[in-house]
Amino acid sequence: MTFSLSPTPARRLVAPEPGWTVSADVLVVGSGIAGLSAALRARVTGRTVLLVTKAQVNEGSTRWAQGGIAAALSDEDSPEEHLHDTLVAGVGLCDEDAVRVLVTEGPAAVRGLIDIGAHFDRDASGEIALTREGGHLRDRIAHAGGDATGAEISRALVAAVREDPGIDVIEDALALDLLRDDLGRAQGVTLHVMGAGRRDGVGAALAPAVVLATGGFGQVFGQTTNPYVSTGDGVALALRAGAAIADLEFVQFHPTVMWLGPLAQGQQPLVSEAVRGEGAVLLDSSGRRVMEGVHPLADLAPRDVVAKAIMRRMREDGTAHVWLDGRMLGADTWLQRFPTILENCRQRGIDPVTDLIPVAPAQHYVSGGVRTDLWGRSSVPGLYACGEVACTGVHGANRLASNSLLEGLVFARRIVAAIEDDRPERAPARMPSGPTGLLPHAVRRSLQQVMDADAGVLRSAQSLADATEGLAELGTARGARPSTEDWETTNLHAIASVLVHHARLREETRGSHWREDFPERDDEHWRVRLVTHLTAEGDLVTTREPVTGEA
Ligand SMILES: Cc1cc2nc3c(=O)[nH]c(=O)nc-3n(C[C@H](O)[C@H](O)[C@H](O)COP(=O)(O)OP(=O)(O)OC[C@H]3O[C@@H](n4cnc5c(N)ncnc54)[C@H](O)[C@@H]3O)c2cc1C
Repeated sequence: MTFSLSPTPARRLVAPEPGWTVSADVLVVGSGIAGLSAALRARVTGRTVLLVTKAQVNEGSTRWAQGGIAAALSDEDSPEEHLHDTLVAGVGLCDEDAVRVLVTEGPAAVRGLIDIGAHFDRDASGEIALTREGGHLRDRIAHAGGDATGAEISRALVAAVREDPGIDVIEDALALDLLRDDLGRAQGVTLHVMGAGRRDGVGAALAPAVVLATGGFGQVFGQTTNPYVSTGDGVALALRAGAAIADLEFVQFHPTVMWLGPLAQGQQPLVSEAVRGEGAVLLDSSGRRVMEGVHPLADLAPRDVVAKAIMRRMREDGTAHVWLDGRMLGADTWLQRFPTILENCRQRGIDPVTDLIPVAPAQHYVSGGVRTDLWGRSSVPGLYACGEVACTGVHGANRLASNSLLEGLVFARRIVAAIEDDRPERAPARMPSGPTGLLPHAVRRSLQQVMDADAGVLRSAQSLADATEGLAELGTARGARPSTEDWETTNLHAIASVLVHHARLREETRGSHWREDFPERDDEHWRVRLVTHLTAEGDLVTTREPVTGEA
């Protein structure tokens, strides 16, 4: 299966002027849980580390994570049970070996976070307090500051990185393209550095081991819980470098994102699933329970099930949102467990202690990304990926709640072991060649509208054909100039194109991919992973990779 991107297949975004270079043994791109963890781990092996990040060091999805981090930390739980719940959520597409790694190495990785200074909430006996979220059959979600888990993890990791003299950090530095040597091995990235008083402009960060930790691509859609930096740069960079990209069709829409009106755009406030874990329920416009009779776990069913049920009810009722009723939690629980969400609501004139919260599904998480092995290796030698940018196969067709922070943590540790084994060598990097295709920022909103309308929660052959057409048209836009916004828009367009292509091919409904024209799961034809790469000739080729483990 071959298809093309428009504008003409771009193997690079920009030709860097011969300018400044910086170098290290290991280059980490991104400063969320995955990038910061990889940087710290690499230092344990004595390597010099350069961490580049396109905004401030604490920007990214990590600091927004509310619910917590999942790990079998209690005596009543086991990695085997965590494995079971993850496989069920992934609907037959998880790579079982990858999940086994996640659940067995997860508890020690979380304890490692505590060792570097992260403070998790404790119960009365001093043990880590654990709660439950959708799809988990045990209480296994550790949280911090009530609903400020990501902020606390980010704080602790950033502090540890700042204290390590062997880690150089460059903020406001956007990685553009992979630099490779004559053998095709990664040797660094081209970098656009912004901001007064810095070495502005395009340069290069050189290292024989490049770790992509650039997070997700929520900004492909108009409404997302992801911050503005989540533009999928790492996936697009890897794609242009010829690396295999997988599972892009599996985009998780969080069922309970606060609805701020029809014109709201960009990052929207999340109402964590943990609120339902504490007893809140979804109601429709007539006050009827939305999830009753839909799934045995009712309001705590896996996210795709809840999102679809809400979408169906909204369609039937002709409404733009449903309601979340958390009044039974009481003022104390709201204040202690969900101070951030409480504040978010109150800022918008809603008091969840006495009021219903308007909620609707919005983009939240991407299961797909740069295809890696169990050690974070991409298909390009010397290029590694971890966290939301990667597709380890852990999430399959749908991520189990609170498994993503854990994935970033566990696989960042593994990548450093892989680098030790691979011992990548330095070699002269050659500048990327080929045509440059850049799209103007002006088309970003139209791109998001196309994706919202035709490639969101509900998809069909017709809607996806419309999306393909819309994206092709936007791909002809002219007037771009090398700037952060235009590079990001170009990346969003490349990702959207592959996402829609995968979604068109996958003629079934599974996990977070919902085809109205193929409403059933089809194991006979579709228990495969769709993997796309860009050939040296500039064609995008998609293949089917068999999935390991039980269906
Ligand atoms: C509102 C919200 C709530 C969530 N709640 C939970 C939860 O409770 N539990 C859970 O497990 N998961 C949760 N998630 C998901 C989880 O937060 C993310 O999957 C995870 O934090 C991703 O970590 P990361 O390190 O891969 O990426 P991020 O934390 O997104 O970091 C990516 C980094 O890469 C940088 N970057 C991006 N592009 C470039 C570039 N071109 N050049 C240089 N730097 C670049 C960014 O600036 C950023 O520093 C939540 C997500 C959101 C948005």
